Amino acid sequence: MARYTGPVCRLCRREDSQLYLKGDRCFSTKCGYERRPYPPGQHGQGRRRRPSDYGQQLREKQKVKRMYGLMEKQFRGYYFRATRMKGVTGENLLQLLERRLDNAVLRMGFAASHAEARQLARHGHFTINGKRVDIPSYLVRVGDVIEVREKSRKVAKVVEAIAKSDRSPRPAWLEVDKDNFKGKVTALPARSDIAAEIDEQLIVELYSK
Ligand code: SF4
Repeated sequence: MARYTGPVCRLCRREDSQLYLKGDRCFSTKCGYERRPYPPGQHGQGRRRRPSDYGQQLREKQKVKRMYGLMEKQFRGYYFRATRMKGVTGENLLQLLERRLDNAVLRMGFAASHAEARQLARHGHFTINGKRVDIPSYLVRVGDVIEVREKSRKVAKVVEAIAKSDRSPRPAWLEVDKDNFKGKVTALPARSDIAAEIDEQLIVELYSK
């Protein structure tokens, strides 16, 4: 599946918020958004115009899409899947995104960023209920036990991420046993479990046009 490979700090600057795409660097003084908190490009420091309704909806969609490291087609796919589920579409969308294996691994603290989590998952470093799963988009379910594979427990990225995992809050839908490199999905992610500032209704409005 295609993925964005360009400079990532410019995405935070474009969305005017920290998307935490670079792991360690995001928590340091080297954060690109902290150093240059204005949009990228030649006219980035010019006067900002008030965005139109469409502009606001578009930016919110782009922000969430970039937060989870998805391309348009994948993201749109999640939206249409969310519309077919019972409940509030915007919340369903966020729940689907949160349930991705790469996201669950990141939230558990086994990776430092979405990109890293995606790569680790793709390279088959995790098992779900004892079976190796190498699909980052796999949707975890309640009761699933996610574990770092025995032979992957010395992978530097995993070790470093676990050592620094306490700096991000652990969502209530996950239970983590760092010492044994595993975690459990105890509930489906609720809207209140998503700490990032997201106005999902704007995304629903955009795609409903
Ligand atoms: Fe965004 Fe992280 Fe880059 Fe800061 S360091 S601009 S939070 S990706």
